[in-house]
Amino acid sequence: MATVKHLLPQVPQYFKANLHTHCTISDGKLTKEEVKAAYKDLGYQILCLTDHNTIIDHSDMNDPDFLMLTGVEININSQEWNRYTSKTYHIILLAKEPDNLWCPARFSRWFPVDPEIDNKICYGDLTPKYDIDSINELIATANEKGFLVMYNHPTWSGQVYPDYAPLKGLWGMELRNTECCMLGYDENNFRVYKDLLKAGNRVFPLGTDDMHYPRSLGKSWIMLGASALNYKSVITALENGDFYMSCGPEITGLYVEDNALKVTCSDAQRVNLEAYGRFSKVVLAQDEPLREAAFPLENFIAHSDGDPNAFLYITVTAQDGSYATTCPYYLKDLLV
Ligand SMILES: [Zn+2]
Ligand SMILES: [Zn+2]
Repeated sequence: MATVKHLLPQVPQYFKANLHTHCTISDGKLTKEEVKAAYKDLGYQILCLTDHNTIIDHSDMNDPDFLMLTGVEININSQEWNRYTSKTYHIILLAKEPDNLWCPARFSRWFPVDPEIDNKICYGDLTPKYDIDSINELIATANEKGFLVMYNHPTWSGQVYPDYAPLKGLWGMELRNTECCMLGYDENNFRVYKDLLKAGNRVFPLGTDDMHYPRSLGKSWIMLGASALNYKSVITALENGDFYMSCGPEITGLYVEDNALKVTCSDAQRVNLEAYGRFSKVVLAQDEPLREAAFPLENFIAHSDGDPNAFLYITVTAQDGSYATTCPYYLKDLLV
């Protein structure tokens, strides 16, 4: 019997998560209670309220079927802020412990914040500037302080290759951000994802809503294969890349068998394998939608020559153009 190596965790339940959203504590339109209720109604189990420059432990909103993560979205702008022309880094710090309320600096806010909330924040003494060394120092410090670091919406931020390719220490990046798409930006960042991987970073692709307005609710997410719905298990699964992102399709299986990478999924128009070199392949639906695809790995394995940065990932695209993308997998992950 052929050996099967699963790349997605074999757990009883996958949890649906949005790791980037706002409420009336910053510039979102819904209260935190309304945001939680809306996501719960849409079948989510995990939510991170990432109000701008304001980190809060929302554990008091947990219930047996719903987990709140602690996080904050910070911004480092390139110059005196001009909303039309300035570049900016928007970065989410996702706390590995719910009560970690460290924030790198007192960033300015454009909305009032309750002093009681502000007094609980543990401000660091960094003075981040818009240059790579300064941002990388911030990311390294955030990692030391116990955060997963996520790079947000590079398209809306006006950023190009030199702004993102040298970033180090990122855990994830927004492959898709709903709110930016709703505003008219092509915030489907496949090229940025691949560029970061090619630069030698093991960075995971995320779908988030960045919900400010209800129109952005429930349109981009991740499906997380955690062993249980508690903070520790969820953070472990996030750290390990035990998830895929989606704005539509479901990936029901991803495994290596008989020297091929096999994918099973909801109805798809095409399934793509993307990789670090010139190994891309596509399987297209013929008369019926695809529910599975298989990609032989012989060439990838033979030509990667033991390269530890040899990666590949899968994108499943539905008839309506919505897609699901996996985390990157490396040669060592694929050898049975
Ligand atoms: Zn942002
Ligand atoms: Zn945001």
